Amino acid sequence: MRILIANDDGYLAPGLAALVAAMQGLGEIDVIAPEANASGTSNALTLNRPLSVHRAANGFRYVNGTPSDSVHVALTGLLPQRPDLVLSGINNGANMGDDTLYSGTVAAAMEGFLFGIPAIAFSQVEKGWGELAAAAAVARAVVEDVLALPVGDRPWLLNVNIPNRADALALPRRVTRLGRRHASEPVVCQTSPRGETIYWIGPAGDVREAGEGTDFHATANGCVSITPLQVDLTHHAALPRWRAALAVAATP
Ligand code: MN
Repeated sequence: MRILIANDDGYLAPGLAALVAAMQGLGEIDVIAPEANASGTSNALTLNRPLSVHRAANGFRYVNGTPSDSVHVALTGLLPQRPDLVLSGINNGANMGDDTLYSGTVAAAMEGFLFGIPAIAFSQVEKGWGELAAAAAVARAVVEDVLALPVGDRPWLLNVNIPNRADALALPRRVTRLGRRHASEPVVCQTSPRGETIYWIGPAGDVREAGEGTDFHATANGCVSITPLQVDLTHHAALPRWRAALAVAATP
């Protein structure tokens, strides 16, 4: 088996090294990650300049681009063979609910999924890499489980969030849906040294929907959260309503 591992925190992130170490023995591993922290870049591809790929002393490749760039380049020209599995993480902080739309960690896995390869994104719930070895052990166990179980049509895309606990491997694993957050906090305005008004994007909003069955609920109650994701954003239930509403205007 060939495994491609990426992240969004950059090729020097402890979470990446921990994930790579945890997968040793499962197959042939290639690592490619952004040169700099690219958290929050979602599925961005770099189209206005070329990309360079270098190999670090630890054997990891790094790219002066985004998480999606990294996996895209690996799959479309860099790797001699197509991987059987794409992993991303372990991210420095949660990627649950609406966060998944902004997440570079999820996007790196999603890039593999878009190319038809099963993929898993791993995140620790709290920032700071606390109990990272335990999270890596969970990642290994999840990978072994999903490779062994009949999980239906391939490819699939899983989003895994792991509580920062020393006993993480012993925690129950719940299959969840995404919760929801409130809209983000306001931007923070400052004045630059040159007198220009500048804006910091504010922190993520508080949790709004964290009921039973959500990723927020699972991790808040001492469980590892595993959410199967899809890419189709179509609001299928709303199609008839919009077709009826717009048919009037569309009639010649
Ligand atoms: Mn990140």
